[in-house]
Amino acid sequence: MTLDVATAKKTLRNERENLVHQLTELGAAESGDLKADLDFGESFADAAAVTAERTEVLGVVDSLKHQLENVDRALAHIAAGTYGICDKCRQEIGADRMKYRPASVLCVDCKSQANS
Ligand SMILES: [Zn+2]
Repeated sequence: MTLDVATAKKTLRNERENLVHQLTELGAAESGDLKADLDFGESFADAAAVTAERTEVLGVVDSLKHQLENVDRALAHIAAGTYGICDKCRQEIGADRMKYRPASVLCVDCKSQANS
């Protein structure tokens, strides 16, 4: 199986749009900074509940930001002509994995090391 960079680029661009849209919906700018105070409505009379809700939203924003970073990194790889090459060990990541996860910038081995 060969790596279809054109398709991957399209997929990544779509994913990026999606992530930015989700961040905007949550009231976070593309950079991930929250716009002023989030409006949680009057129903949250309890300050602790508001804090919990806010923490949860920040967690989601963080995760979206992280995904956006990965997508941007993968797009940078495409621009540099190094798409599909592991960021760490410089080995080919493998077309199967790239097709399954187009935003991958690490091979399976390096990824599992990074997680442990
Ligand atoms: Zn690697």
